[in-house]
Amino acid sequence: MGCRDRHFSFPIIGGSMSYTQKVLDELKARYPEQPEFIQAATEILGTIQPALDAHPEYEEAALLERLVEPERIVMFRVPWVDDQGKVQVNRGYRVEFNSAIGPYKGGLRFNPTVTLGMLKFLGLEQILKNSLTTLPMGGGKGGSDFDPKGKSNNEIMHFCQSFMTELYRHIGPNTDVPAGDLGVGGREVAYLFGQYKRLTNEWTGVLTGKGLSFGGSLARTEATGYGLVYFVDEYLKSRGESFEGKNVVVHGSGNVAIYAVQKVAQLGGKVLACSDTHGWVEDPDGIDYTVLEHVYNKKRSGHDKGVTLAMYVDEKPNAVWHEGDGRGVWQLPCDIALPCARENTLLLEDAQALVANGCKVVGEGANMPTTIEATTYFQENGVAFMPGKAANAGGVLVSGLEMSQNAEHLSWTFEEVDGKLEQLMRGMFHNVDDTAKEYGEEGNFVMGANIAGCSPRASAKSSLDIACDEAPSHSGREPFSMVERAVRPRLVHLKVLDK
Ligand code: NDP
Repeated sequence: MGCRDRHFSFPIIGGSMSYTQKVLDELKARYPEQPEFIQAATEILGTIQPALDAHPEYEEAALLERLVEPERIVMFRVPWVDDQGKVQVNRGYRVEFNSAIGPYKGGLRFNPTVTLGMLKFLGLEQILKNSLTTLPMGGGKGGSDFDPKGKSNNEIMHFCQSFMTELYRHIGPNTDVPAGDLGVGGREVAYLFGQYKRLTNEWTGVLTGKGLSFGGSLARTEATGYGLVYFVDEYLKSRGESFEGKNVVVHGSGNVAIYAVQKVAQLGGKVLACSDTHGWVEDPDGIDYTVLEHVYNKKRSGHDKGVTLAMYVDEKPNAVWHEGDGRGVWQLPCDIALPCARENTLLLEDAQALVANGCKVVGEGANMPTTIEATTYFQENGVAFMPGKAANAGGVLVSGLEMSQNAEHLSWTFEEVDGKLEQLMRGMFHNVDDTAKEYGEEGNFVMGANIAGCSPRASAKSSLDIACDEAPSHSGREPFSMVERAVRPRLVHLKVLDK
C-alpha cells in the first residue's frame, strides 16, 4: 500500500509502480505549480486502480494520460475600462478538457484567486461529474482573475463584454457551452450571452444559467442545492432514515447554500448555521432561506460594498452573528454537514470537531471543499462522505436540460425540471453506491463516484470494465448520434476518437 491509507491508495504491483501512481507522479513533476489540480488528480487516481487492474490494455492505450491532459487550453487578456476611465487588464481562460461524450460543459469562475491550475482541477472534476449525470456533456471550465465584488453594474458589463469578445470564437452550442460559477450569476451570464449574440448574429443555447426571458430553464437557480439534498436524502432512505428531525450545518450562503437550506427545511430538517467570508450566523429557529436570498441579492446588486451575512440578524433578531472565520459552523453539534462555499474550506481539524460532535453524513455542495486529510478522517470514522462530483451535479444536470429545451425551442415547467432533477440525482446515488459495492468498498462513495464517473452510462452496470469491450470500427458507420454518444462508455471513445 502506498499513499496515505486504503481510501486513496497506490498499490505496488509485482514490485513495480501501479499505472495510476505512474501517471500521478508524472503530473506532479510536470505541474508542480498547480496544487489544486494535483489534489483533484490524487483523489481520482487514488481510487480507480481496482477498475484498471484487470485491463492492462488501458495502459498500453495511455487512457489515463489522455484523461488528465486537457484537449485544449485557451488563455487571453481581457482589457476593460473602469468607472474612472482607467484601462484594467485581467487574464481569461477556457480549459476545454474532454469532449468524448458531448460538447465541453462547465462553468466560468470570476475570482481573484483564479489560476490555470484551479481551472484544471475544476475541469477534471467536471468530466466525471458530467458523465455521472448520464447526459451527453463533455468537461470544461473557465474564468478570470477579475473580482466582481465591489464593482458597479457598468464595470461588470464592460468586463463581460470584453471577456466574450475573445471567448466567442472558441465556443458554440455543439462545441463548448459555458455556465456560471463563483462570481458568475444570472447578471454576468446575461451580459456574456448578449455579447455572444451581437458578435455572431445568432441566437443559440451557447450558455446555460440564462435568464428565463431569454432561454433559461426553470429550476436552474435551485438545482445544485436541491440536487445535493436529494442525493443525501436518497442515502438516508437507503439506511431507513430521512431528513426529518435532523440538525444540519451549512458552510457558505451563496447560490448552492441557499437552495440546500430551503430543501432541507422542506424535507423536515433544520439548518442551524451558515456562513460567508466575513463570519457565520446561528439561528435557533432554523436558518430562513428567504433572508439568505435577500442578503445574496443585495450583495450582487452592484452596490454591494459593506454588505455581509451579518445583515441576517437585522431580519431575524433571535439569530446570533459571529464575526470572523465562517469555519466556526463546523464546531456545532449536528447530524449532517453540507460544505457549500468553495475548495479546501473543511480541514482536518474541522473534520475532527464534526466527528467528535456526532456528525454522521457529509455532502459536498461545493467543488472539493474537503481536503484529502479531512476526507480520509471522515471515512475512517464511519461518516458517510458524498463527494461533490456526484452530490453537486444537480446544477450541470439542469444545465443539460436547459440545452435540450433550447435545442427543441421548448420550456418545461418548474415541476417537470425539478422532477427530472430529483429522479436523476436519486438514481445517481444508487449508481455510485452500487459501483462502490461492486468493487468491494461498500460505503466508499468517493471510489464509487470516480469509477462510475469514468463511464457515462450512469446505470448499475457502468464501470470501467465496460470499456474493455472493443469498439466497433468507426468506418462504414453513421456518425454517432447524441443519444448513442450518451450511452457509450467514455473510455471506448477515448480509444477510438481521441488518438
Ligand atoms: P456563490 O458565489 O453564490 O457563493 C459562495 C459562498 O461561499 C458565499 O457565501 C461566499 O461568501 C462563500 N465563500 C467564498 N469564498 C470563501 C472562502 N474562501 N471561505 C469561506 N467562504 C467562502 O457560489 P455558488 O454557491 O454558486 O458556488 C459555491 C461552490 O459550489 C463553488 O465551489 C462552486 O464551484 C460549486 N458549484 C456551484 C454550482 C452552481 O450551480 N452554482 C454547481 C456545482 C458546484 P461571500 O458572499 O462573502 O463571498
